[in-house]
Amino acid sequence: MMEPPSAVRARVLGLERFPAYLYDLAGLSEHAAAIRGALPAAQIFYAAKANPDPRVLAALEPYVDGIEVSSGGELAHVARTLPGARLALGGPGKTDEELELALRLGVDRIHVESPRELERIAAIGRRLGREPDVLLRANLDVTVAGAALTMNGPFGMDDAAIGRCLELLPRMPWVRLRGVHAHLASGLAAPALLELAGRILGWAAEHLDAAEVNLGGGMAVDYRAPAERFDWAAYGAGLTRLASGGPALRVEPGRAVTAYHGWYVTDVLEVKRTRGEAFAVLRGGTHHLRTPVAKGHDQPFAVLSRWSSNGPDREQDGDPDGVTDGEPQRPPETATLVGQLCTPKDVFARDVPMGDLRAGDIVAFGMAGAYAWNISHHDFLMHPEPDFHYLAG
Ligand SMILES: *Cc1c(COP(=O)(O)O)cnc(C)c1O
Repeated sequence: MMEPPSAVRARVLGLERFPAYLYDLAGLSEHAAAIRGALPAAQIFYAAKANPDPRVLAALEPYVDGIEVSSGGELAHVARTLPGARLALGGPGKTDEELELALRLGVDRIHVESPRELERIAAIGRRLGREPDVLLRANLDVTVAGAALTMNGPFGMDDAAIGRCLELLPRMPWVRLRGVHAHLASGLAAPALLELAGRILGWAAEHLDAAEVNLGGGMAVDYRAPAERFDWAAYGAGLTRLASGGPALRVEPGRAVTAYHGWYVTDVLEVKRTRGEAFAVLRGGTHHLRTPVAKGHDQPFAVLSRWSSNGPDREQDGDPDGVTDGEPQRPPETATLVGQLCTPKDVFARDVPMGDLRAGDIVAFGMAGAYAWNISHHDFLMHPEPDFHYLAG
């Protein structure tokens, strides 16, 4: 369960069409300001891939130093949405077109993924008369305990590839090496992320005397404990210690910035039982909110009934859609919340206490502000798309 702030609740109860996304931009601005205040020793670049909604980007802009983008599409979108914002381009497999766009737009940094990519950046920069500013993305040989995802595999470069880049750079003096980038894991709490930062900085000092280090994102978001938050204050204090006398620091958080300020809201179409198991079938589905399927969790939610929850009105309402034919009127204790897709994978939450949930009730899924709408397979089954609403500050 996750209780929405009263302003969110009031707005949801006024909505006339479901499903819908509601972004709490007022709450998001407050949260971003707190993060900014907690990290005096680091630049903050928001990772747009967590949620590139234009109004989300605009709400964050006053509190971040720039935006990290991971494709030409994100690059063009953010440049259009926030003209003049400082941008960093990362991501594996950058095409010549993407690199050319980045250089024409004058991005602040390009994060280099391979020696061959560095050569292509140099060649395109020379052709356009630009002087690219680059960070070498390191794939360090560290084990990361407790991480939700470890970014090994194709991301960044091992020591041999970094060495190759360091050989190439003197031959391309128009390319400015600014330092190192390392986004090694996601889902880490502040102490683990700081320990990792210490190791990255040690490596960067030893291998290339880096003037600047981008420590990546990956701040933990716990979908099973919606009230818990990443400890930005402890992380910021740790970064201040690490920064003293060392290279300039930059971080690029995504999920932990926007996750808490998006809500996917819909209504119950039917509550049914199949062989003793209760299902609440909701309008919409995980093609709008893929997060619980992608991450394997129950999406936290609140039930916001249209009617006063236990009042006599409700008992008398007698909506026959609430229970399928022949079933007893007494609702089951727990239910699995599913969507309208024709696949057993379309599950928001399993075996959750359902109280007197019935057709017409409104369910608001929280923590839907990051890797939610934009990672979902919207076109599957061709149901209507949600409306988007914004609670402005
Ligand atoms: C995805 C990503 C981020 C953001 O990660 P979060 O877990 O959302 O904080 C930052 N940097 C890079 C390179 C990424 O790929």
